Amino acid sequence: MTRLALTTLLALSLGLPNTAQTIPPAAPGPVFPRGERAPAPYFTGEVYVYPLVQDDPAFQCVSSSVTFRPGARSNWHVHPAGQLLLVTEGVGYYQEKGQPIRLLRRGEVVQALPGVEHWHGASPTQALTHIALNVNTEKGIVNWGRPVTTQEYTSYH
Ligand code: MN
Repeated sequence: MTRLALTTLLALSLGLPNTAQTIPPAAPGPVFPRGERAPAPYFTGEVYVYPLVQDDPAFQCVSSSVTFRPGARSNWHVHPAGQLLLVTEGVGYYQEKGQPIRLLRRGEVVQALPGVEHWHGASPTQALTHIALNVNTEKGIVNWGRPVTTQEYTSYH
């Protein structure tokens, strides 16, 4: 007997609505598509961006799902109005200027405060996917700085 048939039989025997026939199962795998390759000057390694929310006067925010292949990371940069990072998959790094690297895992949230210089990316051996949410975009979205050096990237321990 199939799983669907068992579910249906159970629902009917308990007098419940037979939802198994009308609600499709959740799709497995990544939450969002990987998207397109990010512009090379601002990143080291392979980075992909899938746009989620276009900037809009009503919301003043812009959002994308960003995937870093192992070893890939952003340049140092600043968000004039701040940024939230919602980690949806993998393992990666986040570092603010003058602070140690913070390890990121699926389910974690980062608050990059306005004006705080930082970078984010994958770990050396595992990819990272996060949703980047930039708010108050009327104050600016991002000001890019220099690449993260190998010495900086390998300073996690
Ligand atoms: Mn950022």
